Amino acid sequence: MQQTQQKYEDLLTQNEDLQLRLDEAESIIEAIRNGEVDALIVKKDNEPQLYTLRSADHTYRVFIEKMHDGAITLNRQGIIVYCNSSFSDMLHIPISGLLGKQFLDIIPRAYRIAVRSLLEKAWHSDSKAEISFPGENRLLPVLLSLSRLEVDGGQSLSVIITDLSFQKEAQEQKKTLEQKDEFISIASHELKTPVTSIKGYIQLLRHSFKEEGNTRAEEMLGRADVQVNKLSKLISELLDVRKIENGQLQYNEESFDLAALVKEMVQELLSFSNTHDLCYTVEDNCMVYGDRHKISQVVSNLIENAIKYSPAKSQVIIDVSQADGKACCSVQDFGRGIRPEEQLKIFGRFYRVGGSLESTYSGMGLGLYISAAIIKKHHGKLTVESEYGKGSTFRFELPLM
Ligand code: ADP
Repeated sequence: MQQTQQKYEDLLTQNEDLQLRLDEAESIIEAIRNGEVDALIVKKDNEPQLYTLRSADHTYRVFIEKMHDGAITLNRQGIIVYCNSSFSDMLHIPISGLLGKQFLDIIPRAYRIAVRSLLEKAWHSDSKAEISFPGENRLLPVLLSLSRLEVDGGQSLSVIITDLSFQKEAQEQKKTLEQKDEFISIASHELKTPVTSIKGYIQLLRHSFKEEGNTRAEEMLGRADVQVNKLSKLISELLDVRKIENGQLQYNEESFDLAALVKEMVQELLSFSNTHDLCYTVEDNCMVYGDRHKISQVVSNLIENAIKYSPAKSQVIIDVSQADGKACCSVQDFGRGIRPEEQLKIFGRFYRVGGSLESTYSGMGLGLYISAAIIKKHHGKLTVESEYGKGSTFRFELPLM
């Protein structure tokens, strides 16, 4: 009787154990059905073995199919056994026209020998080479990256084909820009000396005509002098840009009064120009530390722009004040103003606001770029507030000493 009782309890335990394993198996099957399992590790002869599920392969197949790079696999004989649609798109050949073909047959003749030895090498180690495929209107530069694949005991080569045209174009553009910069730099250097010398002769001649009392000739030379000054300003701007970019712009620092500097500049301007109504308010003693000449270059650029981009006789208000440990200089005009979308761009190199009017104003779009770089070097900030059609205020701040 006791034995029967024991057997009955053993059977119950076995039954519970089986029920547990059944539950576990059912939840695994459910997880596989839901695509939550990519691989199974199963113990075989006490050794763990990895089984990849078909559904997992599918994910990678879709990934390779969708990727931007071309991807193909070659068998031992160099025949294409798999090809994704990106590669077929690159060559404009349907996949059916590529599968089963010798890879070397689709390689342009000029590269065949090189690619043949690349293929041989790839069976031993990963290898890469740049070649070009004939495209629709032009050659398509690509990078071939080859590696050996070992799947289920068989061997094949994978070839990834990366389109390099975007990269090459960017390189070309960079090279052209560098050449342009180089040209500008040489040209401006070469122009500087003759322009300085012309300016010297103009001044000499002006002086001697004045002595002779030839006012007409003196006046004409005065006009020539104004134009030569513009030319020489453009040349210095070009040279400055080059120096800013190479970090070679020299700063001669000293302590100076920003208010006194601005006052001096405005008074000088007022003495020979009356095209605009220049007003200024300056707070005394705004001592800052920096390159006085370069800061004066910034102020003069802002005032010149205010004059250039606003109608004759309109007001230009120049203000120097101090607050919160900073000296602040602003130049306000009531001219054409700047659209919000242009307000950040105008500080860029060679940027000029487009439009039919722009060609009527001289300039190369460098003044604000240089000014912003100078102010930044002085640990300050150059900003603009503007309303299109109403006017603009340019403002810079410098730390007070
Ligand atoms: P530019 O030599 O062309 O004047 P800047 O770098 O000094 O070069 O200015 C860049 C552009 O910003 C100008 O071409 C102009 O369109 C715009 N701009 C600058 N200052 C003003 C201003 N006070 N009012 C309206 N537009 C301005």
